[in-house]
Amino acid sequence: MDATSQRDVVIIGGGIAGVGTAYYLAAMGVRSTVIERDGVASHASGFAYGGLSGGVPNGPQPNSPLIDYSMALYPALADALAEESGVDVQYRPRTLLRLALAADEVAALTANLAWQQARPGYAVELLDGAQARALEPRIAPETVAALHIEGASDVEPYRLTVALAEAAERRGASVRTGEVTAIHMRAGRVEGVSVESAAGNERVPCDTVVAAMGPWSAAAGDWLGVPLPARPLKGQIIRLRAPGPPYAVSVGHGGNYAATKPSDGLVWCGTTEEDAGFDETRAPEARDAIAEAVLRMLPALADAEVALQTACLRPVTPDGAAILGPVPGAEGVYAATGGGRQGIMMGPGMAKALACLIANGAPELDIERYDPGRFAR
Ligand SMILES: Cc1cc2nc3c(=O)[nH]c(=O)nc-3n(C[C@H](O)[C@H](O)[C@H](O)COP(=O)(O)OP(=O)(O)OC[C@H]3O[C@@H](n4cnc5c(N)ncnc54)[C@H](O)[C@@H]3O)c2cc1C
Repeated sequence: MDATSQRDVVIIGGGIAGVGTAYYLAAMGVRSTVIERDGVASHASGFAYGGLSGGVPNGPQPNSPLIDYSMALYPALADALAEESGVDVQYRPRTLLRLALAADEVAALTANLAWQQARPGYAVELLDGAQARALEPRIAPETVAALHIEGASDVEPYRLTVALAEAAERRGASVRTGEVTAIHMRAGRVEGVSVESAAGNERVPCDTVVAAMGPWSAAAGDWLGVPLPARPLKGQIIRLRAPGPPYAVSVGHGGNYAATKPSDGLVWCGTTEEDAGFDETRAPEARDAIAEAVLRMLPALADAEVALQTACLRPVTPDGAAILGPVPGAEGVYAATGGGRQGIMMGPGMAKALACLIANGAPELDIERYDPGRFAR
C-alpha cells in the first residue's frame, strides 16, 4: 500500500499498542486516527516499569515468539524515535540479578536454566551468594544464589509511548480525544465508530478499526458480539529516594524487583498483582507490601523515602497469550491487547505485526497463536 492510500483507519486507545500501531502504519504509508479517552500514555503504558527482560527470567511461554520479535525491534526503534520525535526513550542495557534468599528457593530459580542458557542473545549464569554480592554489595546477606542475566534492557515507558505518538503524528497520523462508544457494521464490514467528546457525539466513518483498549478491550467484543476477554490486573509501584549510588542492576526476588531509573534518579520498586476491577487508586497496603518485599532483598533501602506511588491496570487474558489479529465475523476490525506484565516489551512487536497485516495483508511474524477468534471456538 502506498502513501496515497485512502484507507480510513481508526485506532481506539492511546497506549503503547494503539500509538505503536499508528506509528508503524504511518511508516508503511497508511494514515490513521488514534482516538483516546483520557490522554496518550495516561494508563499502564505511562506508568509501567519498562523492564525488557526478553521473558528470560520467566521461562518458555506462549508469548515467547512475540517477545523475541519485539525485542529485536527495540534498538533501531529507540534510535529512530530519538530522531523522529526528539525524545530519548532511555532504552538501555540492564543486567538482571534474580535472588534466592533461602536454600529451598534455588530449585525454582534454576528450573528453566538450560532453556535460559540456550536463548540466543542472552548470557545466563548461576552465581553463589558471594559472587552476587560482588555485583551489588547491597543485596540481602542471606542471598544463597542468584541468576545473573545479561542481554536484557529497559526503557522509560511514558517517554516511549509519547514518542511513538509524536513520531506517528509527524508522519501524518492524528491523535484526538474522545471515547469510542460503538463500532458500526454493515453487511459484516466495519463502516464507522461512535465517539463522545466535549464537542458532542459524532459518527466517524472508517473502513478499518483497531481495538487497542488495554484492559477495557472486552467492551469492543461486547459491541460486536464476540468474546475479547481481556481483563484488568492492577499493579502498583513505589519510587524511592534512596541514599548512595544508583542501583544499576535490576535486583529481583519472586515477582518483585528494584532498580534506579535514569528518568528521575529514583529507585522504582514493584509490584503488586491485584484483582480489583478497574480501580486505579493507590493504596497504603500496597505501598507497605512492596516496601516489605523490597527490603527483604535490599535491606539498605530501609533509609529510603517514598517519593511517588503509582497504580495502573495490566490487560491480561485467560490463557496468558496476547490477543492480536482480525476479530472474527467483523471484517476490517482488529484487536491488539493482552500484553499483561510484558506489554511494554511486546508493544512494538504487536504494533508492527498488526500494521504489516493491515497494510500488506500479512504480518512478518506468524501471529496465529494470538488469534482473537480462539475464544469464540
Ligand atoms: C505496575 C506495572 C508495571 C509494569 N511493568 C512492565 C514492565 O516492566 N515491562 C513490560 O513489558 N510491561 C510492564 N507492564 C505492563 C504494561 O504496562 C501493559 O501491558 C501495557 O502498557 C498495555 O498497553 P496497552 O496499550 O495495551 O493498554 P493501556 O496502556 O491501558 O492503553 C489503553 C488505552 O485505551 C484507552 N481506551 C480504553 N477504552 C477506550 C474507549 N472506549 N475509547 C477511547 N479510548 C479508550 C485507555 O484510556 C488507555 O489509554 C506493567 C504494568 C503495570 C501495571
